Amino acid sequence: MSFFKTAKPFIIAGPCSAETREQVLETAAALSAMKIQLFRAGIWKPRTRPGSFEGNGVVAIEWLNEARDLNNIKYTIEVADTEHVELALKNGADALWIGARTTVNPFQVQRLAEALRGVDIPVMVKNPVNTDVDLWLGGIERFEAMGIKDVAAIHRGFSGYSAVGGMRNQPNWPIPIELKRRRPELPIICDPSHITGKRSRIAEVAQKAMDMHFDGLMIETHPRPDEAWTDAAQQVNPAQLKDILEHLVIRDEFTNDMSSQVQLEYLRQLMDNLDAEIIDLVAKRLDLSLQIGEIKKNSNMTAYQPARWREIVETASERAQSHKLSKEFIIELYEKIHHESIRRQLSILGTMEKEIKK
Ligand code: PEP
Ligand code: MN
Repeated sequence: MSFFKTAKPFIIAGPCSAETREQVLETAAALSAMKIQLFRAGIWKPRTRPGSFEGNGVVAIEWLNEARDLNNIKYTIEVADTEHVELALKNGADALWIGARTTVNPFQVQRLAEALRGVDIPVMVKNPVNTDVDLWLGGIERFEAMGIKDVAAIHRGFSGYSAVGGMRNQPNWPIPIELKRRRPELPIICDPSHITGKRSRIAEVAQKAMDMHFDGLMIETHPRPDEAWTDAAQQVNPAQLKDILEHLVIRDEFTNDMSSQVQLEYLRQLMDNLDAEIIDLVAKRLDLSLQIGEIKKNSNMTAYQPARWREIVETASERAQSHKLSKEFIIELYEKIHHESIRRQLSILGTMEKEIKK
């Protein structure tokens, strides 16, 4: 069984950064009373801009080793360089994680993976800062290819221009869900600390991750969060972590309850029928758009007609509202359908490769 599936949920907690020996020992002692699976602390900190605390480096591994020996608690650190990997292995780190700013660089990830060739150590790969599921999966595969057995993904959200929805990093849940669809057995851990950027919303995102079938959580925890040298606003103290964990509702993917199973089966059959109808309707709609494409071609009209698209958005929004559906959701859905119509019409106009044969 994967190391990351030895507890449900698998909990990783500890400060953003190992600041001092006292802070590491104090946090580890408080957390060891709480049955967490891994203690975390960054000793090399990737900072967005220079001039702030960049980690204590290798001396902090000694503090982590001391904390492990005193409290019988395994720990994990971030590695971003092959030198970090060598020092982590030489000093006995129990698990490693790859940061979001490292996962974006396949050359670097490959170097890190090669430095770990054949080593039996669990590795967690954070999502890259950009919304690229292949790049994330690629990072994971590079470690697997070097023989690392216990690889997990960490979902820490994606960078954007501004904090939409009050989140520091956009969660973009469809991306970790897609990763899970492609690799159902791969453990996925959610990092609500870096997603939210603020401690008041960690419980909510942690619960959402549990409801989305994630395997674990990584939550930044500091004895006095407001005094933390890095990521102060998003760290919780050990008592707050305890409270978050105690209130988590852990659900199962399946149920043994016969009556629920029967009701689900019935509703799913209805749903499958509707899905078939939706696809048939989309096909009919796209057929119409091919016919319209022929007319546009013959009358020398553009495939995309902004006024027509505005009209579709308006009509669809009104109908969405009459069903109490989210307008944004319906427009997003229609953008996809409209885009496909335009793509087909462009091919009729001859602007694109002739790939559609009717
Ligand atoms: C961290 O875990 O403290 C960290 C630097 O994370 P990320 O790579 O997700 O920014
Ligand atoms: Mn952090």
